[in-house]
Amino acid sequence: MVITGKFAKWLNTNFEGRVWFMEPMSKHTYFKIGGPADALVTPETNDEVISLVKEAIQNNVPWMVIGGGSNLIVKDSGIKGIVIKIMHQKGWTSLENYSANCVKVTASAGIRLGYLCRYTFERGLQGMDFAVGIPGTVGGAITMNAGSGRGAIQDVLSEIQVLLPEGSIRRFQKDDFSFSYRSFDLKKEKSSDVYECPVILEGVFELRPGDSETIKKEAESALSERQAKQPSGSASAGCFFKNPSPQNSAGKLIDLAGFKGYRVGGAVVSDKHANFIINSGTATSEDVLKLAEIIQKKVFEMFGIELEPEVRIVG
Ligand SMILES: Cc1cc2nc3c(=O)[nH]c(=O)nc-3n(C[C@H](O)[C@H](O)[C@H](O)COP(=O)(O)OP(=O)(O)OC[C@H]3O[C@@H](n4cnc5c(N)ncnc54)[C@H](O)[C@@H]3O)c2cc1C
Repeated sequence: MVITGKFAKWLNTNFEGRVWFMEPMSKHTYFKIGGPADALVTPETNDEVISLVKEAIQNNVPWMVIGGGSNLIVKDSGIKGIVIKIMHQKGWTSLENYSANCVKVTASAGIRLGYLCRYTFERGLQGMDFAVGIPGTVGGAITMNAGSGRGAIQDVLSEIQVLLPEGSIRRFQKDDFSFSYRSFDLKKEKSSDVYECPVILEGVFELRPGDSETIKKEAESALSERQAKQPSGSASAGCFFKNPSPQNSAGKLIDLAGFKGYRVGGAVVSDKHANFIINSGTATSEDVLKLAEIIQKKVFEMFGIELEPEVRIVG
């Protein structure tokens, strides 16, 4: 445990009732797996996020930010340092009619992506249907460039506010981002480098005005498509591996390799969608990672394709 003395006291004083020491990460991940974090804190405002990061840096304590924990595997050994969970924020959204064809919606990082979707559908705004049913927060969705067959965050995100690790708060526009499949980078000015670990504080989304009823129907159809394809109610992190290409989805390759229902300890490949690894109740991270490795090896042997995890493995 690296958090003791002065820093532990500061946390207890400033985050009374919102800081937990040796907190099992299994309580904060959709996989329901993961050893303890030295400390986990739930800031409610951006100022609290900023002060946490600054104090952690000053005290030489490693820190990381999470959102809803829906794309995380935390190792059984846990996380050294402090986990800043940006989810229980006093979240907010706002709306600005930018032009006849564009409405800008601003959302704080800690609100649920599902809430943002509903907020836009109810106001007759088009563009977020790709996100229907994706769990987690706005900040997590931006970091992961979350999406579906209908689109992704990169299609609608126009601006962000971030906390850079050196402590400054900055706004960046579309031209400063680079997106790839399930990944987002913030480019450094006049350089080919990217910022390490920018903390997303808010996102601005450009949407189109449309007919509220049609938009709600589209959203319902997106949700039905998802429910037909994916297992629901199971502990997982959604799709485990990135799709190597549109023709070769990871699910198809894993299915062809015969893995549906295959098990290591408490970790099982879903019968419904082979790219979902599920915690059947007793899985450890070791089970999940061992199963993932076996799948990667076999898929490579059979198809010469290297599957790359979409989930973020931490700890
Ligand atoms: C049942 C299920 C279905 C899913 N379906 C989809 C799908 O269709 N499409 C899809 O893309 N994903 C899907 N996912 C994966 C997951 O929901 C997304 O990746 C989601 O956007 C992650 O958001 P989160 O808030 O839970 O992030 P977390 O899992 O908490 O974190 C993910 C990453 O983002 C970082 N992060 C989180 N918040 C911030 C922040 N404010 N600032 C900086 N970094 C941050 C974390 O450090 C971590 O690296 C699914 C997951 C589940 C469990």
